[in-house]
Amino acid sequence: MSLLVVGTVAFDAIETPFGKTDKIVGGAASYIALAASYFTKNIGLVSVIGDDFPQDFLQLLKKQSVDLSGLQQKKGEKSFFWAGKYHNDLNSRDTLVTELNVLATFDPVVPEAYKSCDFLMLGNLMPQVQQKVIQQLHKRPKLIVLDTMNFWMDSALDELMKTIALVDVLTINDSEARQLSGEYSLVKAAQKILAMGPKVLIIKKGEHGALLFNKEEVFFAPALPLEEVYDPTGAGDSFAGGFIGFLAQTKDISFENMKRAIIHGSAMASFTVEKFGTERLVGLTQKNIDERLQEFVELVQFDISFVNE
Ligand code: AMP
Repeated sequence: MSLLVVGTVAFDAIETPFGKTDKIVGGAASYIALAASYFTKNIGLVSVIGDDFPQDFLQLLKKQSVDLSGLQQKKGEKSFFWAGKYHNDLNSRDTLVTELNVLATFDPVVPEAYKSCDFLMLGNLMPQVQQKVIQQLHKRPKLIVLDTMNFWMDSALDELMKTIALVDVLTINDSEARQLSGEYSLVKAAQKILAMGPKVLIIKKGEHGALLFNKEEVFFAPALPLEEVYDPTGAGDSFAGGFIGFLAQTKDISFENMKRAIIHGSAMASFTVEKFGTERLVGLTQKNIDERLQEFVELVQFDISFVNE
């Protein structure tokens, strides 16, 4: 097993300035697995759903070579449900509903075949569950990436701090970085968070791109200025999926390769926001992805002539 993805497979109801959806398929792990599946084919998923979840989405994941033997299905129970409403700038949102449902009692069981995975992507989920997954592995993966959110900072900070101490890379957004560190400056916030355990920190800034930090260096990836942005839900997870999918494909976890990986993550996020839910992540071709990557290259390429003194 190359990549193990853990996180929610869920229903979302989304409201943006451009429209509103009823319950549609979402969940951190859904976006991560779909985005990563364009880079590596050996993916296992650990998550939980109720018996209300659509089979066709599961078939779609299987078609993308995502193995579902670690996906528990609970009879007579409901899947995780999240509802959110975006502000006019689309960069911030309010959570309207978080119904844990099956997640409230979720006890992850990592299938034997996944226990020696090389890459582990811990998508947004209860920190205790994320820890339980790490504990079940036979060996430490080459790289453990953790994504989390303010919900767990507010409700399970102690457990979250323990999980953060166990991982190699943490991805959070700018307001979460400020909340976690108590620092306004993202540079100071990054140094404080890196002292909590991870070797690398990624701070996502929505339409303003993402910052990649280790203790000595910082790198910036822009977000693509897009004509059509309908729904930012899942952008962070698609980013994480593209990031770890690319690292799993190239098997190189150097900081230099992580720079390339956050561009791949940004490219996958740029697709996701163009339609509601997971729709735009379905049926992409290598050509679509390559063209998007080329747009990133062109966006930031420039020459400067220095005047000799
Ligand atoms: P993102 O927009 O990338 O931050 O992720 C959005 C996804 O996260 C949605 O599809 C939700 O189902 C999922 N989500 C929202 N709140 C939580 C939570 N507290 N724990 C786990 N997943 C969540």
